[in-house]
Amino acid sequence: MAITERDKMYKGLLFVVSGPSGAGKGTICKRLAERFNIHLSVSMTTRVARTGEEEGISYYFTSKKVFADVLAKGGFLEHAEVYGNLYGTPKDKVIEQLERGKDVVLEIDIQGAMQIRRNYPAGKFIFILPPSMAELRKRITGRGSETEETINLRMREALKEVSYIGKYDYCVVNGDLEEAVNRVGAIITAEHSRVSEDIYRLIEQYKEEV
Ligand code: 5GP
Repeated sequence: MAITERDKMYKGLLFVVSGPSGAGKGTICKRLAERFNIHLSVSMTTRVARTGEEEGISYYFTSKKVFADVLAKGGFLEHAEVYGNLYGTPKDKVIEQLERGKDVVLEIDIQGAMQIRRNYPAGKFIFILPPSMAELRKRITGRGSETEETINLRMREALKEVSYIGKYDYCVVNGDLEEAVNRVGAIITAEHSRVSEDIYRLIEQYKEEV
């Protein structure tokens, strides 16, 4: 769904974070939420919850039927099938937060990011890279939730995914977590320092004061 025509109404910025599974986007986003006043969007998925994942915090875990109903009602800002499971970003919550002036971070795959790029070009697109493919394999294996077959699938997918890097505005290599969080934080801060309509309003105010 297009929200382009309403872009200017939003005071909050929309950040889209993508990258291969295991690159550490989830951890980076959680750390950012501790440091910045941002809203981390919670996606809906038909995937089964992993150990330790919580309903409404990690994801809204749901059935294919409910997912299809939400989709049919236009309830997703974007949606995609990833590794055989469906994922979607609930639209209302994101728009509500942006309207309030709060930044929103979406941690989504490339297909979803490209949908957002088309419908909401004001979004800022950040790609998280692993320091090496060997490290990526180690991280995915370390989760303990994947079989050898799905690990190999995710590695092959990772190579395909990095070929989309040119579609993103920023990239951050996540070798050291703190360093990566600092860099993404710097991107958020820099985006808020752009010459914008707010600044022109401030300049108008200066004129009144002189
Ligand atoms: P996982 O199942 O490992 O949590 O996520 C698999 C992939 O789906 C990751 O790349 C993750 O970023 C992506 N993903 C999570 N939520 C969404 C969503 O709402 N939309 C899209 N397009 N991808 C998502």
